[in-house]
Amino acid sequence: MTTRIDHFSSPAAAGGGAGTGEVNAWIVGDDEEVIVIDPGTDPSGVLDVVGDREVLAVICTHGHADHVAAALEVAERDEAPVALHPEDRPLWREAHPGEPADIEMEDGGIFEVADVELEVIHAPGHTAGSVCLYCGELGVVFTGHALLAGGPVPHDGEFPDFAEQLTAIGEHLLTLPSDTRVLPGHGLQTTIGAAEKKFDYWVSAGPAATSPSGPGD
Ligand SMILES: [Zn+2]
Ligand SMILES: [Zn+2]
Repeated sequence: MTTRIDHFSSPAAAGGGAGTGEVNAWIVGDDEEVIVIDPGTDPSGVLDVVGDREVLAVICTHGHADHVAAALEVAERDEAPVALHPEDRPLWREAHPGEPADIEMEDGGIFEVADVELEVIHAPGHTAGSVCLYCGELGVVFTGHALLAGGPVPHDGEFPDFAEQLTAIGEHLLTLPSDTRVLPGHGLQTTIGAAEKKFDYWVSAGPAATSPSGPGD
């Protein structure tokens, strides 16, 4: 197993409101090739971490601007495709008018990089086209805004669909092995087991009490 995960955080999108924190970009690969998950806002910072390795694809966990802003520039260097769930196309268009993403992800889709596979898990709620990427070989799931260490993530201080987001967490994330590391779109990592312990609280507390202390975008 030579596959490793590198991390780069970039500032939240220009004009992002107070309290928006840094965006986690996750770079999965070996010495030869990588996949970039959520490039964030600083393409040259991400490409510095990538170095001379080939970018096979850029995957966006959802279409919000702070996660997709650098997608085209990061992909462009190696003419890599950008992957997005089709239900987040309207959000993508706000960030990148007239430049559609190349790959339409669907639930169960597989990306291969180095010696591992990333499986697409459709986890709607934060946005209709939110996805997570699960890598069983590495024991990690990349969760974007579906789930941070502190809970499900609101947008602009509100949950677009709290019930659907919790359903996606309960049915598609908490069913993963409990020692799976959760690598989220913002803030610190957690585990599926730790999230499982808090899940009932999120359900009973409801959206008002559940906003994590991190950013709400
Ligand atoms: Zn974000
Ligand atoms: Zn978002």
